[in-house]
Amino acid sequence: MNTKTSSLINTPVTFSAQTKSRQAARAFDAADELREFRARFNFPEEKNGLKPLYFAGHSLGLMPKRTEDYVREELAEWGRYGVEGHFHAKHPWLPYHEFVTPALARLVGAKPNEVVAMNTLTVNLHLMLVSFYRPTKKRYKILIENNTFPSDKYAVDSQARFHGFDPRETVVELKPRKGQLTVDKESVLEQIKKHGSSLALVLLGNCNYLSGQNFVMADVVKAAHDVGALCGFNLAHGAGNIQLNLHGDRADFAVWCSYKYLNSGPGGIAGAFVHEEHIHSKKIPRFEGWWGHDKASRFKMGPRFKAISTAEAWQLSNPPILQLAALRASLEIFDEATMARLHRKSRALTNYLQDLLRDAFADRLQIVTPHERGSMLCVRLRGRDKSVMNDFAGRNIFVDFREPDIFRLTPAPLYNSFEDVYMLVESMKAILE
Ligand SMILES: *Cc1c(COP(=O)(O)O)cnc(C)c1O
Repeated sequence: MNTKTSSLINTPVTFSAQTKSRQAARAFDAADELREFRARFNFPEEKNGLKPLYFAGHSLGLMPKRTEDYVREELAEWGRYGVEGHFHAKHPWLPYHEFVTPALARLVGAKPNEVVAMNTLTVNLHLMLVSFYRPTKKRYKILIENNTFPSDKYAVDSQARFHGFDPRETVVELKPRKGQLTVDKESVLEQIKKHGSSLALVLLGNCNYLSGQNFVMADVVKAAHDVGALCGFNLAHGAGNIQLNLHGDRADFAVWCSYKYLNSGPGGIAGAFVHEEHIHSKKIPRFEGWWGHDKASRFKMGPRFKAISTAEAWQLSNPPILQLAALRASLEIFDEATMARLHRKSRALTNYLQDLLRDAFADRLQIVTPHERGSMLCVRLRGRDKSVMNDFAGRNIFVDFREPDIFRLTPAPLYNSFEDVYMLVESMKAILE
């Protein structure tokens, strides 16, 4: 590590009383090794003379300025070359998805042959369930969280029905213990043991979209494997947010979207991970399409499928190049910043937010997110409902509300500052007083 990158190590992750001023926040920003990344993003416009405070990176990440150039370049190549752009574009479209593979692999802790950018998230979840949820009369249950994202619940319910099972008996939901806000890891492990030989699959959101909770993946995977089940993850709130080690943790599969923490733009192209040990397995079925076919013979247009020997075998169609261009622009920034440094800043920013909130609101505000988390804090505002969102909007503050009563606040380490965090809490004081 060079000396230029070491400054943030000195930034405290807990904050004493004298650090809770705007001036102190600015001093943290001045010492932040990642501070210059902020200028590489487009922020929403000023409103009522107020600069935006953007804390919604868990919903739609901000647009990197270079994205426009990357997308324009592909439009220009299309204009210049027509169909020949597949071969002659500066970044040829035929292998275009391969250009993002190395960065994606680094981002999620995988080998390059284990990841692929394709489709959108729920589509990828279904494709993975086709391969990794193969219920039998004896082993058919899926263990998920009770506060899973609705799309995930619809996906597993419909997969259960597709296989002739009743979701009410098949889909088992993890619930927090009495008096607790989130499911602790021990109860996840207990439930896995309890359902044992009837358990086909464990599927967790990591982090959970509503609580921000992050599980220790290796422990959950091991528990699932110990009872003969498989284990997959929805990383919609993990990819680009927490440090992941999918290969080493031996996850069987994972899926994620890229428009949240990964800043690839609305509806951006999603990702999938298949553990190496499954890629060559003849026992794993797959829904197949021509883009998963062996590249050397794909254009012979033969009737028999020959799989690519990587996770690319799960590709169905030729991918959207404009979306891939946007993802490429964003992943280059992640590669430069590195997840290790982002994680460090994320912890400092999020702890700072938590401390300021506790100081300002004490028990008028409940922080749902446990310490095992990424950069999102999910909070309840006692006695206040969704209507507070109007006050946030009036002050040009971007946070979001999820039914029934959760406000989600995300300081994104690539583009949020300590001063942003300080100003958010000051504004919340004004709104809630
Ligand atoms: C955002 C999110 C989704 C959204 O699914 P799309 O297919 O991208 O529309 C699904 N699951 C989780 C856990 C999410 O956070």
